[in-house]
Amino acid sequence: KTWHQTGLTSKILEMIKKLNYEKPMTIQAQALPIIMSGRDCIGIAKTGSGKTLAFVLPMLRHIKDQPPVEAGEGPIGLVMAPTRELVQQIHSDIKKFAKALGIRCVPVYGGSGVAQQISELKRGTEIVVCTPGRMIDILCTSGGKITNLRRVTYLVMDEADRMFDMGFEPQITRIVQNIRPDRQTVLFSATFPRQVETLARKVLNKPVEIQV
Ligand code: AMP
Repeated sequence: KTWHQTGLTSKILEMIKKLNYEKPMTIQAQALPIIMSGRDCIGIAKTGSGKTLAFVLPMLRHIKDQPPVEAGEGPIGLVMAPTRELVQQIHSDIKKFAKALGIRCVPVYGGSGVAQQISELKRGTEIVVCTPGRMIDILCTSGGKITNLRRVTYLVMDEADRMFDMGFEPQITRIVQNIRPDRQTVLFSATFPRQVETLARKVLNKPVEIQV
């Protein structure tokens, strides 16, 4: 498979070329056409498989089609991940593409840098990458004044099995319940135990399953 068979826009294809990603990795070749068609998707794939771009590139296309986020509005794309390190990693992968497309991305996690996260959220951002616990704190403590979930139409749960192991299920469920049901949802997990399958069944709408 080539990048041209994935349905991505020419601007994104140009940037991929500049990064010297010669061809899509297996998970990308399989997931991109499905996610680009608007379907929900479950991807069983490990770190190093190229899963991040498999959900990031369609998210950028999804966002490009919509009016920019204004101050006081919440993000269009929301990515949840289990740890601060993974949030930072995803954020840095998104940044490679987002800036040239005029798309902003704010990482949300506990610890240092919280004041800056909050001021960037208030200014408005198209994408938020977060740990579920910290996102709940921000949504609750501010009564929706820092950011909100009303514009979210593209939702990602990355490393869902690890989020479960870390006890994030209640927070994930709470966040998802506050996102409009006509969103597109993508879930990635290294393994697919019953509890993740149960969550996926609740949160995704007729998902296409792929495994690498
Ligand atoms: P991930 O599994 O998403 O953590 O990605 C693993 C690594 O592969 C990252 O460092 C990416 O920058 C890199 N990568 C992603 N897609 C490609 C590709 N199509 N060709 C070469 N490298 C890639």
